[in-house]
Amino acid sequence: MNDEQKKIVLDYVRKKSVDVGECWEWQGGMCRGTTPATRFPKAAEAPTSVRKAILLATLKIALGRRYGRPKCNNFRCVNPDHIVAVPLHNIRREAASRTGYGQSIARRAKISKTKRAQSPLTNAILQEIRASKETTKELSARLGFSMRTIRVARAGYAHEKLMTTPFTGLGARQ
Ligand SMILES: [Zn+2]
Repeated sequence: MNDEQKKIVLDYVRKKSVDVGECWEWQGGMCRGTTPATRFPKAAEAPTSVRKAILLATLKIALGRRYGRPKCNNFRCVNPDHIVAVPLHNIRREAASRTGYGQSIARRAKISKTKRAQSPLTNAILQEIRASKETTKELSARLGFSMRTIRVARAGYAHEKLMTTPFTGLGARQ
């Protein structure tokens, strides 16, 4: 992108956005609800992703495998000062910690197993909680677990048997 093209991109972004506080909110289309997208004037030779175009127009170094993210967390924001280049693996790690997406089923099963092994909520205690006629409050006081833990244990969510198939861990979609 040459200086002329950078100017076209930044002028276009400014024209198609409105000030909301410090942010410039994009008034054009959105891709998947999170990515401002547009057809920039042909002369700009810019990508359809507005955040990517902004980075190409403002970064002094090559973009590489980095993606534009709004540091203000406003996904409609196209203020060049708010768009930062984030490496793909950071975005993946963030998504994985939030949703488990991108981690294999075998890996998730391993994490669950480790967490269960370290949990003070053993199967014996779990059975005691489930069989007990005491109130949640009484059990919480006697066993030293939070009321929430007792409630979850009673509802049957804790130590659920993992759903596995003969294909688990082989890399196929489940
Ligand atoms: Zn912003």
